[in-house]
Amino acid sequence: MDLRKGTIEKFLMAGEVYDAMDKEEKQIMMRYAKQVTSIQREISEAACKINAPYYCSECHGGCCTNGIEFGNDIPDYLYAMFYISLEERKKIIDVINAPHDDVDCSLKGESGCALPIITRPIHCKLFYCNVIPESKILMNTFGDSLKEADLQFRCALDEMNLMFLN
Ligand code: SF4
Ligand code: SF4
Repeated sequence: MDLRKGTIEKFLMAGEVYDAMDKEEKQIMMRYAKQVTSIQREISEAACKINAPYYCSECHGGCCTNGIEFGNDIPDYLYAMFYISLEERKKIIDVINAPHDDVDCSLKGESGCALPIITRPIHCKLFYCNVIPESKILMNTFGDSLKEADLQFRCALDEMNLMFLN
């Protein structure tokens, strides 16, 4: 299977699943999405305090060239759907479909990741980085709670059979 083609297929499928959900299903799933978002925000704030943006800019986005996208699945992108408009979705699709350097993530656009920061898949947030001195402390603090919130989101999705709506 073409791995890059897999990314667009997963992203489009996530959009279809989201669009097929009714209002009540969206409200229930949004509660689980918010738990993930809350921890994502805490990680982003803590990452700023340890100067992660500086290190990442010097590193030229090394994490976005190591194949993370191929581990992402439909629930990862479905989570993002709760926060992006249809217009933003189309722009993200354009970025994924645009030509990329071999090592670059398909979601990497001209100005960085096309996904808004709090909508990025958890694999992009769980970084055990050798460049940022305190990144392991940050992950030891937030890693387990982010994984648990993500698991709850996925379990709720399974229980509601939302992946089989289409
Ligand atoms: S988290 Fe570490 S490896 Fe990843 S882009 Fe930032 S500095 Fe580079
Ligand atoms: S989804 Fe975004 S943050 Fe994650 S690897 Fe791809 S470009 Fe980087």
